[in-house]
Amino acid sequence: MRATMVRTRFAPSPTGYLHVGGARTALFSWAYARRHAGKFVLRIEDTDLERSTADSVRAILDGMAWLGLDWDEGPFFQMRRLPRYREAAEQLLREGRAYRCYCTKEELEQMRAAQRARGEKPRYDGRWRDSKAAPPAGVAPVIRFKNPLEGEVTFHDLVKGAITIANSELDDLVLLREDGVPTYNFGVVVDDLDMRITHVIRGDDHVNNTPRQINIFRALGGALPQFAHVPMILGADGERLSKRHGAVSVMQYAEEGYLPEALLNYLARLGWSHGDEEIFSKERFVEWFDLAHVSRSAAQFDPEKLRWLNHHYVKERSDADLAGLMKPLIEARGARVEDGPRLEAVAALVKARSETVEAAAAAAMMFYRETAPPEGALELSAEVTPALAELARAFSSLSDWSEEPIMGAIDAVLKTHKLKLPQIAMPLRLIVFGRAQTPNIGPTLAVAGRKRVLEALRKRVGA
Ligand code: GLU
Repeated sequence: MRATMVRTRFAPSPTGYLHVGGARTALFSWAYARRHAGKFVLRIEDTDLERSTADSVRAILDGMAWLGLDWDEGPFFQMRRLPRYREAAEQLLREGRAYRCYCTKEELEQMRAAQRARGEKPRYDGRWRDSKAAPPAGVAPVIRFKNPLEGEVTFHDLVKGAITIANSELDDLVLLREDGVPTYNFGVVVDDLDMRITHVIRGDDHVNNTPRQINIFRALGGALPQFAHVPMILGADGERLSKRHGAVSVMQYAEEGYLPEALLNYLARLGWSHGDEEIFSKERFVEWFDLAHVSRSAAQFDPEKLRWLNHHYVKERSDADLAGLMKPLIEARGARVEDGPRLEAVAALVKARSETVEAAAAAAMMFYRETAPPEGALELSAEVTPALAELARAFSSLSDWSEEPIMGAIDAVLKTHKLKLPQIAMPLRLIVFGRAQTPNIGPTLAVAGRKRVLEALRKRVGA
């Protein structure tokens, strides 16, 4: 027998940007499909009409594209599938597995208040389940599911193991609202069936919904998918990760100069492991990913580790690649790359110290913008001024403007004037770049170009 093809999905609600938790769920679903040569479906669950926005849809698609999580089918939008949910609900009505409920909001509120007053958990009491009463005039009914009254639902979660819930815990949930929009639990089941999803991989905030969904799957006569609920992500304080913990939006990481391969690598390790491996490519992750190694306990988000990984990937990028990423950030700071040295050479110089592309761009600015040293920072002593003047003359006669001859000229001047490197390097930095700190002086001067170095020196010390 041929095994069924694996089909997974990511089903975000477009009520905000793509956050790291959603991206991690998407990554696991995507990787599982890729690992098993299956299909990955993208479905937008936009039934919350008040909170869903087109901007969020775009932000989710942008985030997925930036991370390189490509989907094979979709995006499907639930709001474009309303007739299908209606049809599925009608099927359940016909088969006696659902019923119309005419309770008004007020009635439901009273019901809940009375239950609370009796110390019970509020739940729908099933009053229209077998009612023969004539429908009241003027009330548009909702369609409710006839949840089995007895027995229990057991499923084997691929992460959490066996989970059992008694049907007596579950009330008759609404499938279709009076306006024909499905509830989350119903839309999900109809879609997972129609889209032939074999593995539902999602956040464990949905684990309580799964028994309800399984009952609906069965009532609709569909094959059950497997379920894998991945643990949530916590901030350093043990609270659920949120904006309070800093950036949580994928695109904010993009804007802050993180690389997609770094964020992907980081997210992959969040609640999943492969021995001690920390640094691996997306391809390797696909090769290794399995649900058996998804952790059962919550994962903790560690921004420091993400920065560390990002730095690794910044250094891995070719100079040309990195330059391409830095260019718009330098221009956004109001400088023109054409006015300074070749950006690739600058990228090569700054990447060892830059944890993000943003930091690399910031470090590159000294080559593209002239800055005067801070007031009082540059006090040239009587012995240093003539040494710098001599250095300027030596620089102007170098046949080759590169690190080695530049350092050779500096060494010669240090010797003649009996000075130590910092005594020359520090004023040089301040004179040429207006700052006391730069990468090593030799390569930095080489990248800056002879013209700029000489002009700055001559302005200051004559020569
Ligand atoms: N739309 C749901 C959410 O964003 C996803 C539900 C699911 O994956 O089943 O939480």
